[in-house]
Amino acid sequence: MKPARFEYFAPDGVLEAVSVLAQHAGEAKVIAGGQSLVPLLNMRLARPAALVDLNRIPELDYIREGAAGLSIGAMTRQRTVERSEPVRHRLPVLHEAVRNIAHPQIRNRGTVGGSLAHVDPSAELPAVALLLEARLTVVGPRAQRVLAADEFFLSFLTTSLEPDEVLTEVYLPALPPGAGWSFIEFTRRHGDFALAGATAVIALDSSGACNHARLAIFGVGARPLRSPGAEQMLTGERPVPALLEAAASAASQEIQDPIGDIHASPEFRRHLARTLTVRALAQAVERAADLGGRS
Ligand SMILES: Cc1cc2nc3c(=O)[nH]c(=O)nc-3n(C[C@H](O)[C@H](O)[C@H](O)COP(=O)(O)OP(=O)(O)OC[C@H]3O[C@@H](n4cnc5c(N)ncnc54)[C@H](O)[C@@H]3O)c2cc1C
Repeated sequence: MKPARFEYFAPDGVLEAVSVLAQHAGEAKVIAGGQSLVPLLNMRLARPAALVDLNRIPELDYIREGAAGLSIGAMTRQRTVERSEPVRHRLPVLHEAVRNIAHPQIRNRGTVGGSLAHVDPSAELPAVALLLEARLTVVGPRAQRVLAADEFFLSFLTTSLEPDEVLTEVYLPALPPGAGWSFIEFTRRHGDFALAGATAVIALDSSGACNHARLAIFGVGARPLRSPGAEQMLTGERPVPALLEAAASAASQEIQDPIGDIHASPEFRRHLARTLTVRALAQAVERAADLGGRS
């Protein structure tokens, strides 16, 4: 199938891109790696009057290491993140998440910003951004805004980006020292979108109690979900198996309205979320214990 007719713009700077978007008053769309947008265009599920191609804006392609985290430009390819040594060392959970996105051919083109702006419920990068409390920089015709991941991801394929705004950067804080992490998803075949997934970061104090607990679940709700109830249950406690089971039950019960489709019923997705959460928490605790905390 072929897309409906559209005008094509290839600006060489962010402000020019934003200006073209503003001129089209909601009728233009940004194209980054095209891995999600092109199929939508071809099936005519999206029919923008104009496409604003970000591929000629090199200033959006970088990974910068700071003292407390990494800044990644929106046009950085997923494959670049996968191969980045700073990502592997400072954010191993992101490294693992990216390796779970589709196949290398798709990661060669797909961008970090495209995945975050598209916010597919099963996508790996929005889940990690939520887990790590990422901050997203967005540029519009009048101002630049920095949004917490929780404010940026609204619902199914919906973010708080205005039609004339471009996502330019995501800042991901590094894991706390000695923290263990896990990223686990369930797919029917390697490279498929996940039916459900769980990702966690756990740090332990010298007595073996949990002093930092973060958990995000994806593929089950309209957007990735943090689980404040489960995180609270873990904080200050020794993460023994019974507690991990109880926290995972709490997390799965916090999912209001799990997705049901031809791939999995809502009940199965809730069940998967619980099972994967137990595994993710256990793996994160084990890694934290190996790194020096006691469990
Ligand atoms: C066969 C197949 C399997 C896939 N499997 C997975 C998977 O397992 N997990 C996964 O997460 N993804 C998967 N994807 C999607 C892929 O990872 C895409 O790369 C990603 O969802 C979108 O990134 P993109 O750069 O291609 O964005 P595009 O397709 O170019 O754009 C996607 C959307 O984001 C908007 N957008 C893009 N960049 C910006 C920006 N900087 N500012 C504002 N808006 C922007 C576009 O306007 C569009 O609405 C798969 C794709 C295919 C074709």
